Amino acid sequence: MRRPTSSLLLCLVSCGGEPSAPPTTPELEPPAPALEAPATPAFTLVIHGGAGAPPRDLAPDQRAAYVSSLAGVLREGCAALDAGSASLDVVERALRTLEDDPLFNAGRGAVMTREGRHELDASIMRGTDHACGAVASVRTVRNPIALARAVMEHTPHVLLVGEGAEAFAITQGMEPVPNDYFTTERRRQEWEQRRDAEHGTVGAVALDREGHLAAATSTGGLAMKQWGRVGDSPIIGAGTYADDATCAVSCTGTGEEFIRNGVARAISARMELAGESVGQAARHLVHETLRENDGGVIALSHTGEIAMVYSTGGMFRGSCGPDGIEVRIWEQTEALAGTDHAAP
Ligand code: ASP
Repeated sequence: MRRPTSSLLLCLVSCGGEPSAPPTTPELEPPAPALEAPATPAFTLVIHGGAGAPPRDLAPDQRAAYVSSLAGVLREGCAALDAGSASLDVVERALRTLEDDPLFNAGRGAVMTREGRHELDASIMRGTDHACGAVASVRTVRNPIALARAVMEHTPHVLLVGEGAEAFAITQGMEPVPNDYFTTERRRQEWEQRRDAEHGTVGAVALDREGHLAAATSTGGLAMKQWGRVGDSPIIGAGTYADDATCAVSCTGTGEEFIRNGVARAISARMELAGESVGQAARHLVHETLRENDGGVIALSHTGEIAMVYSTGGMFRGSCGPDGIEVRIWEQTEALAGTDHAAP
């Protein structure tokens, strides 16, 4: 805002005088007091698309598809945060997009139970007041994360499951979809061959310009799971957690282990009670508490510090903020198409 004023002033002084007047050195505008130009509060979005062992020989077009999908979600989410959107809206929006993307194990493209059906789990939490909502074992809800948010906002409950959750979805105006809406050719083949699928749960954590955190997670669960099985993703404190005083967390991996160890809440508790940084707390849970290959977490502190930690072969993940976008599958930063640039 100050630059136009400054050039206008410069123009008034140096361009508007008598043609014959000797050139004068315009007086520089004194720096504005800090109060007039407050630093713009930062914002950050971190997402994951599941931890597992993405094969190193992932075909270039598949690799590009993952990177472009994650980058698109980050681009849209950070534009919204930049414009002042609330972190809760941004994490929900990010997960709806990833649920609709057949690449990931959430919404369309979710893995199948042993019986060949899809049962979906999701949860969402706001760091400001610990408001949260979750759904588990839903079979006809296109965007489970939207239903989780409706549970949070329109019921006195935290978790609705199965038919009760689906009946509630209808009262919220959500048209049911047939269960095979979620099936893709890739998932059908994996199921027919009784193959263990790559993980591909999706999650998001965000810090908005108001300093508020939010977290969300959505999944089809573990491939070939027993019907009725519920993992950590819809369990507040296990797969998802957010507290404005500490951090926001979304987990991915073998849900039973994340539930047993209350992983998401434990990361927040280590920050609160042991004074650890979000990176220290996340590393402790993933590398000391959990076992090798159990999975990974994304976590974002209330000061904007990012932790993306996993003990598997890789984790689809990315982050964005005022400095740009970064996407990774393994350790190195992935090249982004177009005008995207990697954050420093
Ligand atoms: N944590 C999810 C579950 O156990 C699966 C995953 O993240 O891949 O249901």
